[in-house]
Amino acid sequence: MLIVMKFGGTSVGSAERIAQAASLVTDARSNGHRVAVVTSAMSGVTNTLIDAARAASKGQWDPTIRQRLFELHRTAASVLVADEASRARVTEEIDRRLDRFEKLCFGLSMVHELTPRLLDAISGIGEMLAAPLVAAAIRSRGSGSESVDATDILVTTDQFGGAEPIMEETRARTTTQLGPMIARGDAPVVTGFIGATIDGVQTTLGRGGSDYSASILGAALDADEVWIWTDVDGVMTANPSEVSDARTLAEISYSEASELAYYGAKVLHYKTILPAFRKRIPVRILNSFNPSHAGTRVSVEGDPSVPGVKAVTSIRGVSLIGISGTGMQGIPGIVAKAFDVVAEQQSNVLMISQASSENNICFVISAAEAPGVVKALKSALEFELARGHIEEIASQPVAVVAAIGDRMRGTPGIAATVFGALGSERINVIAISQGSSERNISLVVEEKDAAAAVRALHQAFRLDRTGVPA
Ligand code: ASP
Ligand code: MG
Repeated sequence: MLIVMKFGGTSVGSAERIAQAASLVTDARSNGHRVAVVTSAMSGVTNTLIDAARAASKGQWDPTIRQRLFELHRTAASVLVADEASRARVTEEIDRRLDRFEKLCFGLSMVHELTPRLLDAISGIGEMLAAPLVAAAIRSRGSGSESVDATDILVTTDQFGGAEPIMEETRARTTTQLGPMIARGDAPVVTGFIGATIDGVQTTLGRGGSDYSASILGAALDADEVWIWTDVDGVMTANPSEVSDARTLAEISYSEASELAYYGAKVLHYKTILPAFRKRIPVRILNSFNPSHAGTRVSVEGDPSVPGVKAVTSIRGVSLIGISGTGMQGIPGIVAKAFDVVAEQQSNVLMISQASSENNICFVISAAEAPGVVKALKSALEFELARGHIEEIASQPVAVVAAIGDRMRGTPGIAATVFGALGSERINVIAISQGSSERNISLVVEEKDAAAAVRALHQAFRLDRTGVPA
């Protein structure tokens, strides 16, 4: 089968890690698979590049950064590539790319301005340093490989810092450029995270975007599977730092994965899943530090044999905004006005709840955005406040705890188990929301109660064992 394998920053974080990544590629080749690779920057490099760009734009350019980045990659090359000529070629390429980095930063330090476009040109260099190394490591293990700049194949919109793929053009270029390499048995190594506009201006897909690159290229190549090599065993039933007996889920559906990502499980960004999902391409999350673990498979069906709740997750750093007043009943337009304001403030709503008495609507947004939103709401709803239709617009810091699972739908008794579990831990539930998809029950609790709430639900649904409701 054709596999797109993506290696995250920690999976290419050192010469040793890159050697391991290269072996995983050549192993798959020996098992008869065709492989296209997507690599992240070596861990920490993207942050270094971004910090350097920011500092340079304030006139503080530190010339030792180039040298440090060069040493990091050169040292790795010296361990990974035995052949002298090949090593020299890789080192030269890295040097050339760092030259560009230095020139861009130098420019920033002159103009004292950092545009999103320039930041993309700089922050994406880490992947361009890593890809030649990974390709050389694969070659020195006896498989054909070449590095490919995604700027040549992944065509995006010009939303710098968060560009979106233009699939048709990407597919055309990807099949023309990668197709022949893959067909002759080579494993091309594509830079993750970056792309370019149709005019060739470098863009990035947003932080952590290499997973997205892998899913986009998987879709463009009609791959059979996308494998995301990371540093954890897969998607877990809960955050293991919060729940000691959390375990890896063998199989989840795309919708469960996106619910989980939305509610803070950091394993896969929800956007990442879309291109693969549209093509029904299964995505595996695998641990390059523990490659014999089967990881988590994300597919259309998920695991239909597991009813009820599959995972419990939480988001911190959010605020509950409440608009209340007995005079709100039956007055149309308050909700519309409120959410217009939220949209104008460019604030993202995580959950919404309104009692049918209509005396209160509440919603959850990022805590950082709360003061601005409350202020804007008070001004937009001034008339309703003055008339007493609305008595209060208030915000309070909270956490959202979510129980997630496709087959919560039609499984009776889930809500009872949720409230029973929280009740016996004496955890107060401030607000509740369940979408009609029934894939998710979200509960607003005080931040101090969040960890206990997650543990109580994990326990109540026996997620340490089977995921079957208690
Ligand atoms: N290197 C990029 C970042 O750190 C992209 C990625 O790691 O996926 O955000
Ligand atoms: Mg990363």
